[in-house]
Amino acid sequence: MINEENIRNISIIAHVDHGKSTLADRFLEIAGLVTPGEHVSQILDSMDLERERGITIKSQPVSLEYQHVDTSYRVNIIDTPGHVDFSYEVSRALMACEGAILLVDGTQGVQAQTLAHSYEAIDLGLHIIPVINKIDSGNVDIDSVSEQIYDLIGSRKEEISLISAKTGDGVEELFQRIINEISPNKSQNKFLKALIFDSYFDSYKGVVASVRIFNGSIQANKEYMLVNNNNPIYPTEVGIFDLGMKPISSLGPGEVGYIVTGSKDLTEFSVGETIVERSAKEKSIIEGFKSINPNVYSSIFPSDSDEYVKLRDALDKYSLNDSSFFFEPESSSAFGFGFRCGFLGLLHMEIVVERLEREYDLSLIVTPPTVEILLIRNSGEEILIKNPSEMSKYTDIKEINERIAEVVVISPKKYLGNILKLLTESRGEQKDLSFLSSERVKLIYSVPLLELVSGFYDTLKSISQGFATFDYKIVSFKKGDLVKVDLLVNGQEVDSFSSIVAKEKADFFGRSRVEKLSKLIPRQQFDIPIQAAIGSRIIARETVKALRKDVTAKLYGGDVSRKKKLLESQKKGKKKMKKIGNVNIPKEVFQNFLKQDL
Ligand code: GDP
Ligand code: MG
Repeated sequence: MINEENIRNISIIAHVDHGKSTLADRFLEIAGLVTPGEHVSQILDSMDLERERGITIKSQPVSLEYQHVDTSYRVNIIDTPGHVDFSYEVSRALMACEGAILLVDGTQGVQAQTLAHSYEAIDLGLHIIPVINKIDSGNVDIDSVSEQIYDLIGSRKEEISLISAKTGDGVEELFQRIINEISPNKSQNKFLKALIFDSYFDSYKGVVASVRIFNGSIQANKEYMLVNNNNPIYPTEVGIFDLGMKPISSLGPGEVGYIVTGSKDLTEFSVGETIVERSAKEKSIIEGFKSINPNVYSSIFPSDSDEYVKLRDALDKYSLNDSSFFFEPESSSAFGFGFRCGFLGLLHMEIVVERLEREYDLSLIVTPPTVEILLIRNSGEEILIKNPSEMSKYTDIKEINERIAEVVVISPKKYLGNILKLLTESRGEQKDLSFLSSERVKLIYSVPLLELVSGFYDTLKSISQGFATFDYKIVSFKKGDLVKVDLLVNGQEVDSFSSIVAKEKADFFGRSRVEKLSKLIPRQQFDIPIQAAIGSRIIARETVKALRKDVTAKLYGGDVSRKKKLLESQKKGKKKMKKIGNVNIPKEVFQNFLKQDL
């Protein structure tokens, strides 16, 4: 067991592409874990999908041994997920650390997520070492970026490390700053207190949890307790992370490592749980535990309805490894049997869908994302609604409440006009507007979550040519002027297509949906009205005109074999049709309708 005095636990706060992985590679070389030039690049990004998208969702910590003036130190680098969808996990990862490196690309400057994470770190009392990276690059602007860092955390220019993670310039000195400036763990007593800051399911070992020990120690083959869910646990192996996982006999105070639990249930080992002795009388917990709930909902159906069971099995397996993912069975008149699913945010949703399709070889239909709303009935009863179509069950709704998020946008000032317009159109309310430097502006708004999941991010990217960054956290429920807009085909509601929208946007929304759908539905022997409605009030209508008689007559002429063929293909076609009212609609219509929507 290493002396707690000689352990440093840090995290690296950085925006995507600011050089975190490159810096981690240099650290590995300094610690002698790899020789320079050896390719273990991108150590902090584990999954292929994450690497492709340049984001980190979850990754294993790295432990580095470092010799400094006759003493051997261990530096644990705990990575934080870089995306707002995973902000709770960021805060737990930061809780496992005493310090953080704030790594800013000197050619780019401070970005919105860096800002949010830095504030989180400051709130948690972490010591922050500010670093400007990419000083080897021609267009680095050290003065301006230093100014932004000063505004952010109050560090003076001489306190900022200037490095090039690429050439290695300044990296050794930065490593020494970590040893000198960041305080080690200080045990308060010898009774175990450990934090779970990550966990995953391994099909051989069961749940493996990453832990940080604050007091006491943890060993294999002894019973412990989880405080929040009050369950006993029995680790079969404990160890530390080197480049992989190395079993050791005991994890002591200040250490970061893993425990193998044999459990099949990931949800027991939620991020943020506290582990204590089995016999502990006083179960002091690590503050701030919460169970994470989905914010964004969408329905998933197999493109081929024969694959329903395959999809269900895939979801069962996938959810073993993602305790923040939620799903329950659902059936739809348009798509048949599927699942209502909950996600932490849009990126999480995209990633889950992509992984299901890739790893389980499925082709999926995904309905547009929506958010949970809170209905208040006349009796005062509160009901959380995950699916707009559930709303029809209640006729005595007094109020509809929606989730409000606090949004931070950082952007070059030349896009300010466009961004203000977008925020206003998104029903945003300004809380603050300030300049980070002469060129960069920071906005704080409260915006309904519903608007954020309806194309906000894409629009922000396009109106700022990709230069604006944003971050949000969900703050409260608030009464909203919202309505449910249904889509009707030949007078019949298509349940999967109901949406909740702001009343002020309902007419425009309804009209555009009706136009879109009417262009996709093939003409049939009779006129088909396509309508959008709020309750019984029709707000938009288009008609898919009937085919003329002579076109259908063709079916009855011609030679016998051709006729047979036609009938044959008609039969096949029928199988893929969905009947809405008395209208047969090819499934692709619905798929295309959704596609254009995303
Ligand atoms: P991450 O997304 O924060 O992990 O960023 P990466 O480490 O993957 O780096 C993003 C890009 O910046 C890569 O193309 C790196 O080669 C480049 N990069 C990282 N550090 C430096 C640096 O110090 N100088 C220069 N010129 N490029 C760098
Ligand atoms: Mg990276």
